[in-house]
Amino acid sequence: MLLKNISYYQTGTTCDQLLQPQSINELIGVFQYISRKRINYFLIGSGSNSLIMDDHWPGAVISFSQMKKCSINGNIIKTEAGVKNSKFAELCLDANLAGASWMNALPGQIGATTRMNARCYGGEISNIVKSVKSITSKGKIKEYPASEVFLGYKNTIFIDNREIIAEVEFDLKPGNKEEISAHMQYCKKDRNLKHQFLYPSCGCVFKNNYQANVPSGLLLEKAGVRKFSTPKVEISPYHANFVFNKGVATAREILDTTFKMRDAVYQKFGVWLEYEMEVLGNISGDLKSQLNFKKEQCFNSEALLILQQEFENSQKH
Ligand SMILES: Cc1cc2nc3c(=O)[nH]c(=O)nc-3n(C[C@H](O)[C@H](O)[C@H](O)COP(=O)(O)OP(=O)(O)OC[C@H]3O[C@@H](n4cnc5c(N)ncnc54)[C@H](O)[C@@H]3O)c2cc1C
Repeated sequence: MLLKNISYYQTGTTCDQLLQPQSINELIGVFQYISRKRINYFLIGSGSNSLIMDDHWPGAVISFSQMKKCSINGNIIKTEAGVKNSKFAELCLDANLAGASWMNALPGQIGATTRMNARCYGGEISNIVKSVKSITSKGKIKEYPASEVFLGYKNTIFIDNREIIAEVEFDLKPGNKEEISAHMQYCKKDRNLKHQFLYPSCGCVFKNNYQANVPSGLLLEKAGVRKFSTPKVEISPYHANFVFNKGVATAREILDTTFKMRDAVYQKFGVWLEYEMEVLGNISGDLKSQLNFKKEQCFNSEALLILQQEFENSQKH
């Protein structure tokens, strides 16, 4: 199977093996095998925050798409890593449980969504997780209470420790079905109104920089990045932090466009943006060093102040 068929961004070609465990026990078996055979691997959820590179991946890809079990006990829901965010929101609705409505229409699976502490529409996954069961790369099970997992904005211990999230336990609150449903509909409608699903993307390519205090989308827009759009790679006309694959773009073409975007913001505002998008697979040395390159922040305070005021005014209306 081509990786572009299991990746939201629709990039990537082939790999040596695609492994799709169906349970936590099978996942443990997969990692015992991988560690014994010393096989290179990467993990994929729905691929909605990731760009898979174009070349053949000489190793294994582990997909969670078949790990979809859920159980409900009162306010507590346990889900395996491959459950989709929207499915989870629906499950909570059916059980009259509040706290997950913001996850409706958020692309992705519970495992990766927990790993990066996803947030939107006033919600953040750290607010509803009770504990996380993970597997080490050698196939050993570990369990963490939420207090040890979340490290703030889009950050958790799993970004650095590279353990594999197998199951997440949530603690929700009894809620009102109509209110939960209304908020779920609102989230979905708002994303559609913002044309987020027009073409494959990875959502926001760059994180916000809270020191600059201006959303990265606005910095990108004011830096004029739309001029980097091509017939294959389009910077969304509605949100300059979204980069669309219009169907046949290679990962390299997408990545090159994002380098230009990052440079343009730095030139105009002195803000060096950090990637939110994850790059997976076989990345060549030159691209890897560009991706990981860091420039000193040297904020253009005057230009940023104008944008901060513009942003504050836009929030008032
Ligand atoms: C249209 C659109 C809108 C979006 N809006 C938002 C938004 O409002 N807020 C927001 O926060 N994000 C948003 N995103 C980004 C994305 O939806 C989230 O980051 C989502 O949580 C990614 O889930 P995934 O399964 O697709 O992750 P993937 O892209 O498959 O994986 C992301 C990373 O996690 C790793 N990974 C995957 N599964 C596991 C696992 N079980 N254990 C450990 N590591 C794992 C992967 O190797 C990769 O490094 C948006 C994306 C799109 C396309």
